Amino acid sequence: MAEKNMDPKKCPMPVQEPDVRNKNFDEVALGYTYDMAINEARRCLNCKNRPCVEGCPVSIRIPDFIERVANEDIDGAFEVLNESTSLPAVCGRVCPQETQCEQRCVRGIKGEPVGIGRLERFVADYHRENSDAKPVIPQSNGHKVAVIGAGPSGLTAAGDLAKLGYKVTVYEALHVAGGVLSYGIPEFRLPKAIVNKEIQNLIDIGVDVETNMVIGKVLTIDEIFEMGNEAIFVGSGAGLPRFMNIPGESLNGVYSANEFLTRINLMKAYKPDSKTPIQHAKKTVVVGGGNVAMDAARSAMRLGSDEVYIVYRRGMEELPARNEEIEHAEEEGIIFKTLHNPVEILGDEEGNVKGIRCIKMELGEPDESGRRRPIEVPGSEFEIECDCVIMAIGTSPNPLISSTTPGLDTNNRGCLITKDDNGLTTRDGVYAGGDAVTGAATVILAMGAGKSAAAAIDEYISKRKM
Ligand code: SF4
Ligand code: SF4
Repeated sequence: MAEKNMDPKKCPMPVQEPDVRNKNFDEVALGYTYDMAINEARRCLNCKNRPCVEGCPVSIRIPDFIERVANEDIDGAFEVLNESTSLPAVCGRVCPQETQCEQRCVRGIKGEPVGIGRLERFVADYHRENSDAKPVIPQSNGHKVAVIGAGPSGLTAAGDLAKLGYKVTVYEALHVAGGVLSYGIPEFRLPKAIVNKEIQNLIDIGVDVETNMVIGKVLTIDEIFEMGNEAIFVGSGAGLPRFMNIPGESLNGVYSANEFLTRINLMKAYKPDSKTPIQHAKKTVVVGGGNVAMDAARSAMRLGSDEVYIVYRRGMEELPARNEEIEHAEEEGIIFKTLHNPVEILGDEEGNVKGIRCIKMELGEPDESGRRRPIEVPGSEFEIECDCVIMAIGTSPNPLISSTTPGLDTNNRGCLITKDDNGLTTRDGVYAGGDAVTGAATVILAMGAGKSAAAAIDEYISKRKM
């Protein structure tokens, strides 16, 4: 057995220097070397009660994969990951480990937790770059299922069902698969080549991915059932951006974060020879404090903005983005205007953005979410000069599927209603998960929902067979 590493600190992750990376779209975090990974893996105590596993929404056998890394059996580690996740290189990069698996790690009590996400990323990357193992195509069980949406929840459900022998067809509305992994998360956090490879792994085990298929328009849920599918998983995400309904939101230079990031990521607006129109603003204001706001702000900086502001109505402590993303944004020069809220976007005679009027806020008593309610400070309005405003204040599910499917009910936020923890909707044989049910949340929670729904679909179809 390999000797334990009792260093209280995680092996640091090599990263591009802030002043270099804020001018390019290459990945910020460079990944562990082989020796770093082995060394970090040896910090794991292989705890018998496995508290870290309880913090993982897709139940990865964490101590088992890490033990294999510690013993330099990287292929074996990959096999353990592959039992539970079809997207390990993605999870290792974008999962909020600090509030999931790593939050439960016992090494975190007297020091830093084991770098579980970093090790997961290492194993997936090492395997992709070094293994020539051929995909194992599961034996068919003769049953067909469909998945709507090729984002994290849909791909997870598709992978799990394919591994159980189902013939799975994934219908994706856009021209590429990946959902938010492709259109939302920028290249510098999640390179698209890595997303594409993990999707290809699913195609290699027999999953059909049909793009440009807007369900509710090209086909309805009823028609998909008529094509012989015995169950359907809806993982269509939450792609409808929210706005604040303040004056000036229709001016030129105002974007939803969704549109801004889609133009950059999916339509490659960051490439110098791209024909995709995008605002190369001198001063950009991003409204919101989540990961999407950080992504939009850091992307605007990389497109050439001299000044980029994050305007958020609560304080630094309350920012919902991951700490790592906030730290990276600060290092890259993003200016945080917390405890501020926009009241109007200002335009010039030609209808272009020329500034944003904000008001200062202070925190009052906790609201229904448990967070302290932001309250306007009277008479504290001021203006920030800018030529681009990006709204990153959340998204809702698109109503197209629910409005074209009899019996599929939604709540007052437009999210699909599920009757149990496994994603059963109000329509027999239709399961749902991810942002379509919860509203915008994290990739790993969506994957967890896809996983439980896949197990429930298998049980549902098995019972019908009897
Ligand atoms: Fe941790 Fe996320 Fe990996 Fe699960 S998928 S082990 S929560 S990093
Ligand atoms: Fe290893 Fe931490 Fe999990 Fe214990 S809790 S098995 S130390 S990763």
